[in-house]
Amino acid sequence: MLEGLQKSLGGRATVYVAAICLIILGLEGWREWTSRSAVLGHSEEDIAGLAHAVHQHAEDTFEMASAAATAVARGLDRQHRTPELLTRTAELMRSSVSASSRVVALYLFDRDGNWLASSEGLPLSAEAGKQLVQVFGERRSYAPALGEPVRLGAGSGPVIPVARGIVGALGTFDGLVVAAVEPRELAGFYARFELGPRDYIALATASGVLLAHSAGGAGPPQPGDPFVLGTLPPDPGTSVLRSPVDQVERIIAQSTASRFPVVAEVARSMQDLLAPWLQDAMQRLAVTALLVGVLAVVGLRLADQIWRRHRSEAVLARKESEFRLLAESAIDLVERFDADGRRLYCSPAIEWMTGHKPEEVIGKIAFDIVVPEDRHVVDAAARRLRSGLTDAETITYRVRHKDGRELWFETALRMAADSTPERPGVVGVTRDVTERKLLEIRLADMARVDGLTGLANRRAFDEALQREVARACRTRRPLALLMIDADRFKRFNDDYGHLAGDACLKAMTAVLARHGRRPSDLAARYGGEELVLLLPETDLTAARQVGNEICRDVQALGIAHARNLPWGCATVSVGVAELMLDATAPHGGTSLIAAADLALYDAKAQGRNQCVAVSRTEPTSRLAG
Ligand code: GH3
Ligand code: MG
Ligand code: MG
Repeated sequence: MLEGLQKSLGGRATVYVAAICLIILGLEGWREWTSRSAVLGHSEEDIAGLAHAVHQHAEDTFEMASAAATAVARGLDRQHRTPELLTRTAELMRSSVSASSRVVALYLFDRDGNWLASSEGLPLSAEAGKQLVQVFGERRSYAPALGEPVRLGAGSGPVIPVARGIVGALGTFDGLVVAAVEPRELAGFYARFELGPRDYIALATASGVLLAHSAGGAGPPQPGDPFVLGTLPPDPGTSVLRSPVDQVERIIAQSTASRFPVVAEVARSMQDLLAPWLQDAMQRLAVTALLVGVLAVVGLRLADQIWRRHRSEAVLARKESEFRLLAESAIDLVERFDADGRRLYCSPAIEWMTGHKPEEVIGKIAFDIVVPEDRHVVDAAARRLRSGLTDAETITYRVRHKDGRELWFETALRMAADSTPERPGVVGVTRDVTERKLLEIRLADMARVDGLTGLANRRAFDEALQREVARACRTRRPLALLMIDADRFKRFNDDYGHLAGDACLKAMTAVLARHGRRPSDLAARYGGEELVLLLPETDLTAARQVGNEICRDVQALGIAHARNLPWGCATVSVGVAELMLDATAPHGGTSLIAAADLALYDAKAQGRNQCVAVSRTEPTSRLAG
């Protein structure tokens, strides 16, 4: 589940980064698309305005041509055409043409299409006049009108005729004045606008005959012409059309003149219009894509780091919980201490082991519950660990349970894995070894106790003697030793049996124990039926007194021993000696035993059932009790 969570975290961060990148790219794309729309919007306005200007220019031009033709025609209406009138008319024509920048020529034809006069001597074909008279004469109207482009002379280019009929004397059609407008002149105007190679401006009649266009020329559209004249809805709208001729997509605007039936068409290539925008947009998109790429890389790395951190935190938390689970479910007590021995952590086992709750001992010095006598053990181990002499220590010591009981604990101490010289830490695992320790003590005690009498055995006596001799030498205090031997005990055994002998020995032991009541006194079985009583802080006189009392008390037991005459009961002889403090200390114990033994020998020799003491000042002299 943890893995799943980590994966989903990593996955989610990746998705966030991807989403942010996509949003940025989307916003940038949307912004570019908006700016493209703005470019197109402005272009459409410009194109529509241009179309309007073109139609305005055409209308002005045709209006000027119409005015020139009308002025000439009015001078001829209902007039008899004399040579002078024709001469004046020709003059007028010339001056009109020279005054007008847009009318290239004026012509006068009679009702049959014969040429009568013109602004200049242009070559005219004989057919031209007849054709014009036919076209315009059929109208039965004297109002100025626009015609389709015609070639007036064999070698001349096409011109756009604007004609006005002449009213004869009888009110009938009597000829035609034609003002010629050159398509080239219109095209020259169109050339002033900056057009691309795929843009065009065209002017056509309502029926679709081309009057002029930006590339020059006039007449019916040729097969290669892209013009869509007359196929679009009229002003003021613009349309986007892909030309079936050259496959170029163009924004097209048309404008229709109101006075003359012509259509102005302006078309500009979409691709060319959008080219500057596209170039800028591409640059901006490239920069954005680069930034987004950087963002994605940085974001993904960040996401990866977040994921890794999450993972290591999760691993740490899992390890911690595993450790806690182990520590807190362990029967043993797990603890951590700082450099000063303060408890930083302890597992719940401390409560049932010591009666203290963890919160009561955390932050406290570990010594607090250790019995004072054993604190040095803990302290020494901690010092050895800190000094680096060892990296692990196992110590056994006593602690005081909250209820007052004394317990034995065994602790394995080790420097913590994260311990540093600046911040040393020690971990300890402790178990209650009270039961084992008590057993050990009991076994040790048993090893020092005589099985028959329950007194200390020879080994325990030897140790105690050595200890007490050393102490006596140190403190300069007296130390006495009584050596007690059953009288004629071999006979007792012979007469009453060994079991009775044992019982007798036990009874004597009880007497002995009664006389060694102080904690430091020690009664022991020295060997066979020989017992000893070690009395620290006791001088020879007092010891001899004790010896006498023992003799008396054993006899008082009244254990029958027929052959121990003259008493007839079991008795003991006692030899007493006091430690010679002036003697050399290492052999003090041995000499004390030897002296007591000697005194005992004397007691036997002097008749038994008595106490003999060896004087401390005169080792050789013996005092009988
Ligand atoms: P003495 O008065 O000179 O000491 O005479 P004694 O017979 O006691 O002489 P000795 O010390 O030589 O004899 C010791 C006897 O004590 C020998 C042995 O039978 C007996 N004895 C030693 N240890 C034990 C014991 O544990 N139980 C019994 N029943 N007898 C023991
Ligand atoms: Mg003996
Ligand atoms: Mg004996």
